[in-house]
Formats: sequence, C-alpha cells, structure tokens
Amino acid sequence: MNKRSLLANLPKVDEILNNERINVLIEEFPRSTIVDSIRGKIDEVRKRILNSTDDELVGFEIKVEELVNDIVVYIEKMNTMSLKRVINATGVVLHTNLGRALISERILKELTDVACNYSTLEFDVSNGKRGSRYSHVEDIICKLTGAEGAMVVNNNAAAVLLVLNTIAREKEVVVSRGELVEIGGSFRVPEVMAQSGAILREVGATNKTHLYDYENNICEETAAILKVHTSNYKILGFTKDVDVEELVELGNRYDIPVYEDIGSGTLIDFSKYGLTYEPTVLESIAKGADIVSFSGDKLLGGPQAGIIVGRKKYIEKMKRNQLTRALRVDKMTFVALEATLRLYLDEKFAMENIPTLNMLTIDPETIKKRAEILFDGLKENANTIEVTLVEGFSQVGGGAMPLEELPTYLVSLNPKTISAKKLEEGLRGYSIPIICRISDNKVLLDVRTLKDEECSFIVSAIKAIEGRR
Ligand SMILES: *Cc1c(COP(=O)(O)O)cnc(C)c1O
Repeated sequence: MNKRSLLANLPKVDEILNNERINVLIEEFPRSTIVDSIRGKIDEVRKRILNSTDDELVGFEIKVEELVNDIVVYIEKMNTMSLKRVINATGVVLHTNLGRALISERILKELTDVACNYSTLEFDVSNGKRGSRYSHVEDIICKLTGAEGAMVVNNNAAAVLLVLNTIAREKEVVVSRGELVEIGGSFRVPEVMAQSGAILREVGATNKTHLYDYENNICEETAAILKVHTSNYKILGFTKDVDVEELVELGNRYDIPVYEDIGSGTLIDFSKYGLTYEPTVLESIAKGADIVSFSGDKLLGGPQAGIIVGRKKYIEKMKRNQLTRALRVDKMTFVALEATLRLYLDEKFAMENIPTLNMLTIDPETIKKRAEILFDGLKENANTIEVTLVEGFSQVGGGAMPLEELPTYLVSLNPKTISAKKLEEGLRGYSIPIICRISDNKVLLDVRTLKDEECSFIVSAIKAIEGRR
C-alpha cells in the first residue's frame, strides 16, 4: 500500500472506541482519557506514515489489534500512580529512597478517620473555640521525653532552621568542627544553619574538641551552644568530643542555652536489644539540654516530621515565629505521629507494632524461618535460577547507626540463562517493583525487610519473569 491509501485506511477514533477491549475500559477510566489516548496513538501511526517514503512503507500494514493493545497498555500506564508501593528486599530498614520509616498498620483507622473526615485539628471541642494543632501531640511527647514543651515541624532540617532562627538570628552559635554533618542528597546541616541567619562559630579540630574550645569562643554575641549527633558517621581513633552534660554546665555558667540536634531521635535504648547505643531524647533532656530536635521518621518509626522538645519558654517563642507557618505540618502527619507515639506508652507493644523497631530487633530465628519459606518457594518454582540460602548483614539506614551490621539471612539468586542485572531489572520493573541488591553477580533478597505475603509475591514474580522467556 502506498502512503495515500495507508492514510485513508487509518482507523477513526469512534471505530477504536467501539472495540470490545477498549469499550470495557470506559467503566474504569474517564472517557476523555481514553479518547485522548486513542487519538494520540493514531496520530503516532499517521506521523510514522507521513515521515516515511513509499519505498519505506512497502509491507507496512495497519494492524488494528496491535494498535488497540498499545492503547490499552498506554491507558493503564497513565492511570497508575507514580508514587506507589514497592517491596524492599534490600534489608536496609530505614531506606531513604524507599520512604524511610513505615507507618504501623495498627494506626490505619486513626489515619483514615482524620484524613477523610473533618477533625479537631485546630478546634477545641471542650469550649467550641479555636485550638492549637500542636496540642494533640505536646502532652504525649513531653511524657515520653521528660521535656517541658514540644512542637512539630516538617522535618528535622526544618527544626534546625526554626530553632536557630528563633534563638540565634544574627547571633553566634558555637559548634564543634567534628559535628558539621552532611545528610543525604547533599544537604548539609551547617548550610541549613546558615540559612537560619545564625552565625556559626566552629570550634576545635575535626577529631578533637575540648570543653575549653567552646568556652574560649563564647563572647557577647553567643546565643547558643550547639551539639550535633554525628548520626551517619563515626570519628574513630584519636578523638574527643564533649558530652552534652558538660556543655549544659558551661551554658549555665554563661547563661547560654544548649541545643542538641540528636538526629535519629530514638525513644528507646537500643543497646538493651543488642544494637549500637544511640543517645535517647529522654537522656538528652535529663542531662539538661535546653532544646533537642530529632526526626519523626528515622528510629522513631513515625511519619516525616521534625520534633522539637525543650524548655517551655523557647518552645513558646518558636510557636510564635513567623517561619513556623511555613514549616507547619498537615493533619496527616499529626494523626500519624500521635498514634505512633501512643504505641510507645508500652515499650513491648511499641517493639512489636512499630515496623522500624520490629525489623531492627527481630530475632534471628524468625528471620531464618522467613528466609527458608522464601527459599523453599523459589527452589520449587524457579527452574532456571540456582537458589541458595546464605548468611549476611542488613543495615539500619536513614543515617542511623552507620557501623551496625545486623546479622540476617539472604536468599541468593544465580540465574543461569540471564545476567543477575537482567533479573534485577525484571524484579524492579514488576507490577509491584521488587527492589534488591546485586553482589558478586547474584541477586540477593534480604528477608529482614519483607513481610510474609511479600515473600509469596516474590515467588510468583520470579515465576512470571521466567515464563516470559
Ligand atoms: C537526619 C538528620 C537531620 C535531618 O533530618 P530530616 O528529618 O531528614 O530533615 C538533621 N540532623 C541530623 C544530625 C540528622 O541525622
């Protein structure tokens, strides 16, 4: 067929709309989406014909069924969410790229109740007047941390910005050179601090900072002493840093507040569970820090948030800062945070029901059992892959406990007919993407971060991927 007759033979939009496979989609998707998709795909074919010479078009046919197929795939793709669930088989518990902390399924009802209905967000039902959105979490945060006051902003970076802007704008903040942390995505704590309008006075050396380094740099202009928990790295060897307790004593002598950015913000002493000791918020407050800030979605295991606790006078001043309006969080965050914090009222209950805590402290026997179920399922179903069960390590992630190696069990996949990279791509491109690591030309599945039903899903995914070849 030549160009002209091919063009004349292009199907009409209506014709495709009446196609059986397209027609059923009208119930599911907006008609305009379907019509636009059909028009777009027909246009693609038209352009292809127009841009080719008659010679190039020898043997070219318009295949309506293929076109319909393309359209169906396209419509379905247009209608899948971009932000969607994945399966984390990397074993990195707080995987920043995969959404960091998981919200407990225990609090789903509280979440939907507040998200899909009107709520008491800024309404005091006892007197029918306007209330404060911070009131819902302030008491429980104070109870769990021993602080006098508390407030919540968008994340811990926002907390740093707000704290320093409130107490130290155009004034000096004394901080150790060894604590100028860079967090993921090349954001640097010192840059955030500079944005607050505070002037950083860096003291000491990278490996050692003494109490006298702080003291020698206190002057008229000093508005705060800052301690940053170096959550995502450790300086080892010939080192010295000053404990918050000593800084508080120094601050008291000069009447200067001490602010600790504690990063991960755990409420639980992880050393009890055999993990690296991480400073707890309770301890920092007990040692006398005037202000402490931390993330809601690192070791705390809640929603993304920055939690600020400390002396009431500073907290009240922060609530009045105009920046607070720009950094304030939504009802979804408040409800998720309040409900997560309530789980902490009983530590044992928190360990079982907050996914982050659970995944970090899960006992090796349970991990092994889960790994064996995945191993057995794959061994039985994967014909072209050599499956083995091996011991390995998982990571905490989220810039917490950087040196911790959590013993785990891995299911190792060695595909015989394709490369490990191709298998990894297949898993990553699956309907629910399965994210895993490759090491030594093998695909590794760490079951620490997998739920039981995700293990059976992985088995069916691998079966389907094998079937495609
Ligand atoms: C992670 C971290 C931050 C940033 O917290 P976000 O909640 O990610 O904004 C700030 N300071 C320290 C010490 C951290 O570890």
